[in-house]
Amino acid sequence: MALNVIGHKIPDSDSIVGSISVAYLKNQLGVKSTSCKQGDINPETKFILEKFGLEEPVTKTSFKGEDLFIVDTTDLALCPDDVLDSNVLGVVDHHKLGDLTTSTPLEAWIRPVGCSNTIVKEMFDHYKVDIPKDLAGAMMCAILSDTVIFKSPTCTKEDTKAVKELAMIAGIDDPKALGMEMFMIKSAVDGTPIRELVMRDFKDFDMSGVKVGIGQLEVVDLGVFDKMKDDLLSDLALLKEEGGRDSVLLLLTDIMREGSELLVASDNPSKIESAFGVKLSDSKVWIDGVLSRKKQVVPPLEMVFRG
Ligand code: MN
Ligand code: MN
Repeated sequence: MALNVIGHKIPDSDSIVGSISVAYLKNQLGVKSTSCKQGDINPETKFILEKFGLEEPVTKTSFKGEDLFIVDTTDLALCPDDVLDSNVLGVVDHHKLGDLTTSTPLEAWIRPVGCSNTIVKEMFDHYKVDIPKDLAGAMMCAILSDTVIFKSPTCTKEDTKAVKELAMIAGIDDPKALGMEMFMIKSAVDGTPIRELVMRDFKDFDMSGVKVGIGQLEVVDLGVFDKMKDDLLSDLALLKEEGGRDSVLLLLTDIMREGSELLVASDNPSKIESAFGVKLSDSKVWIDGVLSRKKQVVPPLEMVFRG
């Protein structure tokens, strides 16, 4: 039985490339492994896989009784629904420690760096396994995506070092230029259905028993959303009701201005305001310097919901 390597629900580039890179490493180490995904890939990931000629992981969402290796999360809400009935043999992650528990010992590669693929690069180095050129390019792109081309406060010197070394292997002279090319693709939102945009990079969190959904869209110019904000806000309100959520937030992140406009649908808007020390105006507020959901948005929200 093969080891299934899988990233989080609503997969991003780190989850998809991470499932490919970890499965490749495991296969090199003699563990028969398959890279899997829990849902469709986004346009940025599609660009990366096409650019480096990598195959999409297979879609698989049920793992009862099977061996599993999880990449880019340890939150139950983001793992496959039957994860507790599977055998989790390992995790690679760079988020806060989640609520996943296992019934057997596991290998855990968890570091406070900007991207899971930075840790996977360290795993290749640890086992002295060479990274193929195409895979190195994709891993580099995943790091550029997660760290917002090194601008995110989550970015560490380990991430910049990994990008440098992966770029060398992949023969890429200007990683930042390729990063911008990726973010231009992310910025092409015109004509995309509103719900698809809201869900593109969306995560549910359990905050002291309260369900809070947080989406994020990172673009090079917030102007692309000018005509969409009312529609986005109404859809957030719908999503809040549909999922029995207390609050739904959407971060519209401007990577050039280095900040985010927060769009909010909430049963407790005053809690959201107090989390960030801001006043909402028409359910919106610009927050300077906020680029990272995991580091700058989730922790203050967890604090206010803890009460
Ligand atoms: Mn991710
Ligand atoms: Mn990640």
